[in-house]
Amino acid sequence: MSERTLAIIKPDAVKKNAIGDIIASYEKTGLKPVAIRMMQFSKSTAEGFYAVHKARPFFDSLCTFMSSGPVVVLVLQGDNAIKKNRELMGATDPAKAEPGTIRKAHGANIEFNAVHGSDSPETAKFEIAYFFPETDLVG
Ligand code: ADP
Ligand code: MG
Repeated sequence: MSERTLAIIKPDAVKKNAIGDIIASYEKTGLKPVAIRMMQFSKSTAEGFYAVHKARPFFDSLCTFMSSGPVVVLVLQGDNAIKKNRELMGATDPAKAEPGTIRKAHGANIEFNAVHGSDSPETAKFEIAYFFPETDLVG
């Protein structure tokens, strides 16, 4: 079933000039970009996006990191896009990520891990709407 997921190329990966490589991985995996936006998060944009993690000890550090430089926000569309993208990303901790995954290739540690991907249809819906009006999606 074709579905949509939200991906973010995080500030660490943008700084490393990995945007092109990461978007190429999406396309090779059958995840078609239907919206792309480059932006820099404010701290409060990051806090709203990661609100589910508010109680976690790493919340403040994560939001500081996510607002530390430009990011690329994408909506990806394809069969089982949510699961497919999570597999392509690899484990949250790059040290535990499988070879061939984006986090294995570009992540530095459990916080600076190169990419974000929605983890369920509910979060995908919230996360896509957080950045894009329906009319911005071309697919
Ligand atoms: P994922 O991005 O794999 O869905 P989570 O939703 O659990 O992982 O966490 C959101 C983000 O918070 C992670 O991608 C990572 O940047 C950061 N993070 C997660 N766990 C930790 C941790 N233990 N210490 C520091 N940062 C973390
Ligand atoms: Mg998550």
